[in-house]
Formats: sequence, structure tokens, C-alpha cells
Amino acid sequence: MTARVWIATIAALLSALSVGGLAHATAPDADTLPSYVASIGAQLDPRVERTLVQLVGTGRQLLALRSYLRSAPHLAERWSWTQEQIEAFEDSPQQRDLQREIEKVRVVFVAASPGFELYVNSQVRSLDVQVENWNSNGSVEAAAKGILAAAQALILSPGFAANRPEQARESLKAFLSGYKPVPTPTIAAPGLSLHGQMRAIDFQVHQDGRVVAGPGTASIATDWAAAGWAARLDAAVRAASDKFVGPQASPPAPWHYTYVPEAVARD
Ligand SMILES: [Zn+2]
Repeated sequence: MTARVWIATIAALLSALSVGGLAHATAPDADTLPSYVASIGAQLDPRVERTLVQLVGTGRQLLALRSYLRSAPHLAERWSWTQEQIEAFEDSPQQRDLQREIEKVRVVFVAASPGFELYVNSQVRSLDVQVENWNSNGSVEAAAKGILAAAQALILSPGFAANRPEQARESLKAFLSGYKPVPTPTIAAPGLSLHGQMRAIDFQVHQDGRVVAGPGTASIATDWAAAGWAARLDAAVRAASDKFVGPQASPPAPWHYTYVPEAVARD
């Protein structure tokens, strides 16, 4: 085949593709994604439906919906506390137990690293704060772009049953449940953060009121790994308490420990 024939062939292919594309656009349309998101959300816990509409953009909604689908069996017990539940926790014996465990870690940490302080934000992370974080976090934004593009491709693919809503919804659900976000979001979908039931603690290292090592992916290599704070925090946590599990490995968060009020068996 000569170069000229090749060019003619490619031109013919391209025009066939664009005709096909146009014909496609009149039938299944990527713009139907928001309605699928709404109808899948409506099948889940009512709190999911109320939360999804507060998330900015279909990509962020799809990414959160993926988490809600995957944790559907545990959604009710994992869902973040309401304002009333947060207030009930304040000054409760459960809160005092937690404070006591944190204090044990702090004492051991400070003894091993004189001149430094261990700081913990003891506020429960409310659903509103989690929604704000989801709408502003960089890793969520990047992962949302990826999942949006992949879901649009699914909906526009020839095999997608756009004319059979039930089946279309099921294939989108299966796709979302199996999808691996890139990058892995550094925070949990709103409502699912363990901070929302005070089941997670973020430790920070301070010195003279200044943050030496704080929560933030950008500081892991320098402040937590190279400067050694991840190891020093972990040593203090392990020596002082049997009620923290961690730190979180995926995505890495050397400051984040799960709080398990029932003592954890360690080997
Ligand atoms: Zn955390």
C-alpha cells in the first residue's frame, strides 16, 4: 500500500468514526451519568442520598458512590455521628477512655523526644467537614477525573444497555464497585471517615507551637520518614497503648491510627 492509499484509508476510517460518534451521541449520552448517580444513590441509605448532592461534580459523586457501594453492608454502623451523637460523646466515659489512651502515648513520646510535643485534634470530624474536605482535596480531585472518564467510556460503549435502565444501573454499579481509583484518595468518602466516630486519631508533632510533622501527604518523605517522626511516633504508640492500630498503610498516613477501644491482641 502506498502512503497515498494509507492516507485515504485513514481519512475514510476517521469519517466513518465521526459519523458513528454523531449517531451515538443521539442515543446513549454521557450526560445521563448524573441521573444514574442519583438513582443508584436512592437505592442506598437515605444519608447517602443526602450527602451525594453536596459533592461538587459528577466525578466526585461517582468516587464517593463507589465507596458507598463497596461498604454498603456496613454503612449503617460506620456512618459518621450526627451533631447529637457528637455532643453525647463529649464528656462521656468513652471520651475519657480515649483521652487517657492519647495521654499515655503523649507521655511516652515526650519522654523519648524531649522538647517536642504530641498534638491531637480531639474534635470528632463532622459530616459537614468531611464533605468540605472531599470537595477540596487534591487526591480526590485527581481520582474523580479518572473515574468520570472511565464511567463516561462505559456508558458510551456499544455493550452498555442504555435503553434498559435497570440493567444499565446494574452494570454501572458493578463497574464502580470494581474500579480502582488512581491516585488512591487520601481521605475516606464523606460519612465513612473513622474520624466521624472518633475511631481514628491523627497525631502531630509540634515544637514551640510550630508543626514539625503534621497530616499531609507532601510531608511524608521529609518530615515523617527522613526526619524519623513516623518511627518515633509508632514506637511511642506501641509502648504506651494496646488500643491503637496503625499507622494507615494505604494510602500511607504515618500520623493516622485507628482507635480500637477493645484492646488489640499483639504478637
Ligand atoms: Zn486520619
